Amino acid sequence: MKVAIITGASRGIGRACAIRLAKDGFTVVINYSRSEDEANAVLSQIKADGGDGMIYKADVSDPAQVKQMVKDIDKRYGQIDLLVNNAGIVRDSFLLMMNNDDLDKCFDLNVKGYFYCAQQVGLKMFRKKSGVIINMSSVSGELALAGQSVYSAAKGAVNSLTRVLAKELGAKGIRVNAVAPGFIETEMINALSDEKKEEYLKDIPLHRFGKAEEVAAVVSMLASDELSYMTGQIITLDGGISL
Ligand code: NAD
Repeated sequence: MKVAIITGASRGIGRACAIRLAKDGFTVVINYSRSEDEANAVLSQIKADGGDGMIYKADVSDPAQVKQMVKDIDKRYGQIDLLVNNAGIVRDSFLLMMNNDDLDKCFDLNVKGYFYCAQQVGLKMFRKKSGVIINMSSVSGELALAGQSVYSAAKGAVNSLTRVLAKELGAKGIRVNAVAPGFIETEMINALSDEKKEEYLKDIPLHRFGKAEEVAAVVSMLASDELSYMTGQIITLDGGISL
């Protein structure tokens, strides 16, 4: 048995990762912060597919809740083999209109939340001398999109975090990589106006948005032992928008 924690897995990319990793044989922990019904629906889908797992409510931007979550999961299963740091929010605004609350919320979840989870899970993996951490970044970590200064800075931090953790944890058999999706059809993207969507589509060589399942396929590969020599990499999956 292998155990995976996927943060923010009640919908979108996290949901697709949970369903895919369960099909790959992982027992999956579906972390969610608010939507218990959606989290239960993901678990039901996993069970219908013949997989197993549990749901766990925790706000991963709160270090105390992350610590308790990792403690409880380790107690229940005795191991944590994979962490997918996925929970994230967008707070787009031009610099001159940016408010501090959005700035804090974005960094608390998209950056500090990844640290908290990596640290707590890393402690368990460190003792076992094996494990995989996958951080959900974004093309915005490299690409300069006006209005995304906070989100871009946060995802840029995720890329740096990924590389440094790969160095720090490599000697203990822990691999750390990131996936940098472009525009993926989730509620995050559905919130964009039709004009904005058309504008972005013009810049995507494949001329469509990606699907959450396509991101989950990359996560599945990165989690697999077949990629056991890959660490510290940011894998871009964006239909070519960053070319
Ligand atoms: P989404 O908004 O559909 O899902 C985000 C999930 O995170 C939700 O389940 C939400 O409940 C959960 N969440 C929010 N705050 C949380 C908290 N404090 N603790 C625990 N869970 C919390 O978003 P998505 O599009 O599926 O994005 C998932 C990840 O992929 C994010 O890190 C996002 O930045 C990244 N990403 C998304 C896209 C895209 O186009 N959709 C592109 C690049 C990167």
